[in-house]
Order: sequence, then structure tokens, then C-alpha cells
Amino acid sequence: MSPRPGLEARKKARVSISAKNTPKSVQPNSMQDQRNELPIASGKEALVEEIRRNDVTILIGETGSGKTTQVPQYLLESGIAGSGMIAVTQPRKVAATSLAARVAAEQDVSVGDLVGYSVRFNEASSAKTRIKYATDGMLVRELLGDPMLSRYSVVIIDEAHERTLRTDLLITNLKTIQKARNSPKDAKGKGSASQLNPLKIVVMSATLDAEKFSRFYDNAKILYVKGRQHPVAVYHTAVSQPDYVDAALRTFFQIHTDQPPGDVLIFLPGQEDIESLDKSIKLYADRLPRDNPGITVCPMYAALPASQQAEIFSPATPNTRKCILATNIAETSITIPGIKYVIDTGKCKEKRYVARETGTGFDTLLTRDITKSSAMQRAGRAGREGSGFCFRLYTEESFHAMPDTAEPEIRRCSLTSSLLQLKCLGQDLEDLDFMDKPDQEAIGAALKSLYLLGALDSKKCLTELGRDMAAFPLEPNLARAVVASREFGCTSEVLDIISVLSATSKLFYDSTDERDAAQEARRKFRHISGDHLTILNVVRAFREIWASEGKAARRDWCRKQFVNDRCLLEAQNIRNQLQEVCARMGIDRRTSCGENEQPVLKSLVRGLVQHAAFLQPDGSYKQLMGPSIVKIHPSSSLCDKKVPVIIYDELVYTSHIYARGVSAVPRSFVAEVPVLNHKGA
Ligand code: ADP
Ligand code: MG
Repeated sequence: MSPRPGLEARKKARVSISAKNTPKSVQPNSMQDQRNELPIASGKEALVEEIRRNDVTILIGETGSGKTTQVPQYLLESGIAGSGMIAVTQPRKVAATSLAARVAAEQDVSVGDLVGYSVRFNEASSAKTRIKYATDGMLVRELLGDPMLSRYSVVIIDEAHERTLRTDLLITNLKTIQKARNSPKDAKGKGSASQLNPLKIVVMSATLDAEKFSRFYDNAKILYVKGRQHPVAVYHTAVSQPDYVDAALRTFFQIHTDQPPGDVLIFLPGQEDIESLDKSIKLYADRLPRDNPGITVCPMYAALPASQQAEIFSPATPNTRKCILATNIAETSITIPGIKYVIDTGKCKEKRYVARETGTGFDTLLTRDITKSSAMQRAGRAGREGSGFCFRLYTEESFHAMPDTAEPEIRRCSLTSSLLQLKCLGQDLEDLDFMDKPDQEAIGAALKSLYLLGALDSKKCLTELGRDMAAFPLEPNLARAVVASREFGCTSEVLDIISVLSATSKLFYDSTDERDAAQEARRKFRHISGDHLTILNVVRAFREIWASEGKAARRDWCRKQFVNDRCLLEAQNIRNQLQEVCARMGIDRRTSCGENEQPVLKSLVRGLVQHAAFLQPDGSYKQLMGPSIVKIHPSSSLCDKKVPVIIYDELVYTSHIYARGVSAVPRSFVAEVPVLNHKGA
């Protein structure tokens, strides 16, 4: 399709798709009825027609209007996708898997057949798959093997307003891919592209910032789905609430004891706060007088197993109030039915890299205040099925002080991993056409990190080592440790440790009720060198119990040792995936160093060299490659020890800068890192 003149496109741009006004009392009885009741359903034909006519379409619609679940099905049914696949990207893993499950159910197929998903370390798809929900990161990874994304005839970039780094990389790459595939004459030197089917791009978002996406794609058409938002009464606190978990607890019980039926959705920044509030609510619920309605608490966060995720969609048992404790996953990507009350702590976790303080090109998770846009989305969740209430645990002044929207990740996150992937595609960050350009300091930090890891040479060219590292679905520093394990003969051990570090759930339970018993149990696994080899001890013991006494004994053993069964199972699955990559690259996964674990530490140092710190006279540690003074995190097995040199997994910012996941290593291991002693990478 030839590019349209801008003016004409702008004049025609706004097409509203209005919703049917269905009375609320009509209860849909089947899934198909539910589909037909969604606001997007009445605009189906118009929508399909617009997408058929345009190469790029921007679709804006309120959360819950049916964009993510319906549009891919409409496109499939209409034949627009031809024989190609439809990809729908999601910033979050949980959203991708849960939406695939829903759409598979609507199509009456099992997940992995017609409808599948692809997330890091987990894939359900087959030759039959036509609609694939994938994390944006997984689609970027697919580019490495198939730079034209030739399997797909439609790519839907969903939740585009979140502007994750991976989404931005896709938005940029799709523009060139589409040019090459749809008008092969224009694309010089991409002869093979002319044989490919044309590509359609649909950008979907729940917020109204569509113009920027439209401009980026040569004034692409913007379509709006009218929602059915009911009024929501919003309340602020008179004074700020530093203990937001406690404030949420009190607010929840006020609602529960004083307000009419309706489920409650509480937004919290992360898993720790969710778990702590979950416990407190259950504790207080037991003390309520008998005549109060019951309470069902449903947590919702990234690391939650799929079986428990399904619970949030099931209706509460009669005379019971459901209380959902969620991270910002419930803001726009997942719609939970039945919500009448929202409690908003005003906090979220944000990935950010702080080059000056950390001295590295890797991210840290920080709890911070949300944006106005998030606050409004959160409040909106209370008004989907009728009028609702939103209790903000912050003052009105704080709301007005919030920034309108978040800065795109490309402006604030580490670029190390993306830079490596782009290098593999023969692209340079500096030259690409982005919606927002990354800043030079961040590019510099990423280049430095990759150079120190040996992935780039001194001329910024990709090395063989770098290409090997990019094959692993891991951050470059962890990938470096795996590749190093080949040289040091300890791949089996390094895979065990890296798999646990890559799992979403934590290995050790922090049981506040039985702290002494938990610590006593943990002591048995302690390795003198610190946390990494302690993990290895747990994995070894777990595997032994499983092999000798079976599944039931394994679960029992985990409970008694205060270790998380779920983390170890997840790690086992991750290990299997990493082993497959090793096999493709001729790395023997069985190579083991046995009882002498020094090679394991050597391999880890190769990856974590930017995370090395040296003991100071006052007992703190100074970063080798950054200006910060760090302390060992209280959760570390080394927290009360003084050792000359440490390496760590990450930094945590609270009252101090803490290093978490710490091991003591001989100074010589750090000195031996090739780029540090100038023997060449
Ligand atoms: P949008 O993308 O516009 O926010 P969705 O397509 O995600 O809307 O949601 C449409 C409807 O599908 C919502 O009513 C939501 O409650 C329902 N839905 C989505 N996922 C599930 C699920 N896993 N189980 C049950 N219902 C779901
Ligand atoms: Mg959606």
C-alpha cells in the first residue's frame, strides 16, 4: 500500500466504534454470549475492514473493552492473516499466559493448539498455532532467528502505552520489516523479502496517547472503541500514609464492615507487600464476628502459579467478599470482573538503572510513586460493571504532584541486553529510528558492560563470545557465567545456580512466625563462600530427596527446610531450557567440578565482574567499578562476615545500598578476568 498523504489520513483518522447499550441485568450465560456483549463486538465489521485497508492501525479502547482477547480472533476469522500467524505481544508473562488460556477457551481448543503462548522459559505452541500471545521480549528474541518475522502476517503490539524497552525495539524493527515486506522495491538489498507475505501492524493501548504512535508510523489511522465506564467516586487521605500496607488493611476492613457487597481490588507495588497484606487480612478476618460475610483473598503478581491465577476470575462464593491483591498487572493488562472498590497505595515497582551509583549497565527495582495516568487507570477498575469507589491512600496534593505518564523504559533502563541482541542483528542503537532515543550515557554504560563481559571487542564489534551469550535467554552477565563454565569445567553446577537465580519465586521462605526454625534449617545448607554455593547445596539436597524418596517426600522435605518447592520446580524447568541451548552450542551440560567448587566461583566472577566490591576498613564494601559503598544484605549468609572481596547478584536500595546474593571470592579470580589484565577479551 502506498503511503497516504498526511492531511487526508488525519482528517479521516477518528472512527468511533460505539458500543451496544446492553442492560446490566442481562446476564450472559455462555462464553460466546460474553464475547458478544463486549464493547468491541458491535464494531467488529468496521474494525476488521479498517485493518484490512491499512498497513498500520492504532486501536485505543478502555481496559476490558475486548481488544486483547477479541481482535486476534476477529482477524483470524476474517481471513486477513492468510496462512500466516498472528502475534500479540504483552509486556508481562502472566498476562500472556492467562490471555492465551482465555482465548483458547473461547475457541474451545486447548492452549498450544490453535491458540498458544511464548514467554521466557515457557512455550505452548505447535504447528497448528495461529494466534500466539508472546511477551515483547520473546518476539525480539524471535527476530534473532527470523529477522523478517516471516511466520507472522499480523503483529499486534498490545499495551503499547507501557513503552517497555522491548516494545519500543519491536515498534522500531517492525517499521523496517514492514517496508521490506510490503513494498520490496523500496528495500534495497533485501531481495528475499519480496517473496514474503505482507505484514500488518496493529498497535493497541488503553490510554489516549495515540498520536505519537500514529506519527511514528507515517500518520497511521487511529480507531477508538467506546467503553462503558461508570462513575467512580474517588477519595484521598487527609495526610500521607507512609505505612501503606497498614493503611490498606484498615481501609479494606472499613469497606468490608460498612459497605454493601462488591469485590475489592488493592494495588500494591510487589510480591512482598502482597504476601504480608494477605497474611494480615486473613489474621483479622478470623477475629470478625460470625455474622460478617466471609473474605476470599486472591493474590495476583508475576510469580504466582497459573493454578492460583485462575482463581481471580472465578466468582466469589455467595455471601463472601473477594479481595484481590495485585501489582500494576491489574491496571490495564488483566480485567477482573466484579470489582466495585479499589484501594490504591499509589506505589509501584520500577526498573531503573542508575549508572552513576551502580557503576554498571544493569537494572535495579525501585519502589516509587505512580503516575497520574496509572492512578486514573486504577480508579477506573472500580467502574466497569456499575458505579464504584476508589480510595487513594495518598493526599490530593500528592496526586497533583504526580507526573502525567511514566518515562519510556528506553530512557531509564539498562540497554545492555538489548544492545547485545541488536549487535547480533547487525544493528547499532545509535543509528535506529526510535520513538524516543536512548541517551548517550546509557548507551555508553551498556557498551562498557558488554566490553567487560567480552561480548564486544575494543572496536565495539560483536565477538564470538558475545554471539554465544546472546543465544541464552538470560541477562548477559548470567549468560557469561554459563559460557565461562565450559572453560572451567563446571557447567552442571553453574546451570543449577543460574536456574534458581532466574526463577520468579524466591528460594527461601522468610517465615516471620517461625524465624528461628527457618534460620536453623537454613544453616544446614550454608556454604562458607556464601549465597551462590548455598543455593547449589539446596539444589543438590532437593534432587537427592526427589530421586530417592519421590514426589510426596520432596514436598514434605521442602516444607520442613523452609525452602520453596515452587522455586525449585521452576528452576528445574529453566534448567531444561538452558540445557537445550547448551546442547545447540556444543556445551556439555554434564561437565561437573565435583566437590571442588572453585571453578564455579571463577565462572560467576566472569559474569559478575562489574558486581565485585572490596572490603573497607570500616567493614563496608567499595565497588570495584563504581563509586558506591555497599553493605551485605541481612538475608545473605555472609551478612555478619568480613571477607576481602565479594561479588553480588544485585543491589537493593533501602536505608543503605545493600548487595544481595553475595559470595566471597579470592582476589586473584577478579584479577584474572581477561579485560582487567589486558590480555585481551
Ligand atoms: P482489553 O484488552 O480491551 O482490556 P480484554 O480482551 O483483555 O480487554 O478483556 C475482555 C474481557 O475478557 C474482560 O471482560 C475480561 O474480564 C475477560 N477475560 C480476560 N481474560 C480472562 C480470563 N483469563 N478469564 C476470564 N475472563 C477473562
Ligand atoms: Mg488488553
